[in-house]
Amino acid sequence: MAELSERMRALVQPHLAGIEPYDPNFTPTRINLSANENTYPMPHEVRAEINAALSCVPLNRYPDPMSNELRDELAAWHGVARENVCVGNGGDELLYNFLLAFGGPGRTLLTCPPDFSEYAFFASLVQTDLARVWRDPETFLPDAAALVDAARASQLVILTSPNNPTGDVLPADLVRQVCEACPGLVMIDEAYGEFAEKDASAEPLLADCPNLVILHTLSKAFGEAGIRCGYVLAAPDVIDAFGAIRQIYSVNVLTQVAALAAMRSRAAFGPVVELIRSERERLFRRLSRREFAQAGLVVWPSQGNFLLVRMPGASRVRERLRDEYSILVRDFSYAPGLADCLRLTVGTPMENDALLAALRVLVLSEA
Ligand SMILES: *Cc1c(COP(=O)(O)O)cnc(C)c1O
Repeated sequence: MAELSERMRALVQPHLAGIEPYDPNFTPTRINLSANENTYPMPHEVRAEINAALSCVPLNRYPDPMSNELRDELAAWHGVARENVCVGNGGDELLYNFLLAFGGPGRTLLTCPPDFSEYAFFASLVQTDLARVWRDPETFLPDAAALVDAARASQLVILTSPNNPTGDVLPADLVRQVCEACPGLVMIDEAYGEFAEKDASAEPLLADCPNLVILHTLSKAFGEAGIRCGYVLAAPDVIDAFGAIRQIYSVNVLTQVAALAAMRSRAAFGPVVELIRSERERLFRRLSRREFAQAGLVVWPSQGNFLLVRMPGASRVRERLRDEYSILVRDFSYAPGLADCLRLTVGTPMENDALLAALRVLVLSEA
């Protein structure tokens, strides 16, 4: 693993000395199913709307700091007020700002790993301690009682629903109990919420739980990972804090108009999301077949646009997928709790067929 030079280790803030330069381990491949992007072509009419909006936006003026037009569109969609919405440069910026505003030395962030690795990373940047309630090693389901208990002693909680990379959705009554137990703020990261069952969102709890924050992104279901746009829904005073600490121009004019055009046309993404959901179920059924099971492959049900699989020799299989088939998937086998696990993003029917055909050969031969 790469590390900072000795000179940099001496110059960065002491708590950052052990940090590693980012290595996304990215290789250009024919089929990229490694980052949970939406791999479908953007609906034609949406792309046309975005192009039209981009072509006439003034570039000489600073952006509206709070993205108010976009906020209003998002608020109307979610049935809340502008004051309940803060837009960010991707969900990642909002996660970082959450830790920056509400974490810090002496505070504890509760997480439920295996989950999104950025939580622990951002916590470490702002010297926030971590409390972890590990998921069941076989089912990957959270230990509800232990979570509620740990929430009492944590200033911050981040839980993911559907969880990346395990795919499960948090029951609403668990979210409510965690909100009631936690003396600080509870963020539910719903980056993959659009792929889940209709009643899976924690959003209805916003009215009752003033310490609940819900995170969304346009990077996944809406196929706009490149434009960097995410948003949180929360009580107005929570949004004020997000607004106060953010870098005022982090959401640029191009992002604002592209996101607004996409959100106004959001209905056009419905059929794409439906297709991804049905492809997910098809992949799940195929990977659950006896031939794979006999070769030691395990697949977990998922409400996201990805499936977690465990198999003997996972790292080898991932390398051979890349080198022999030009298919990229994410290797989690070195992550704690995820030995021999790969995460497969659900792609187009053709991409999924190519993945299945390659896995058949590789898993059966590596077993
Ligand atoms: C992708 C993702 C996000 C946010 O991604 P952005 O591209 O920064 O909007 C947040 N949480 C989880 C769990 C994700 O997988």
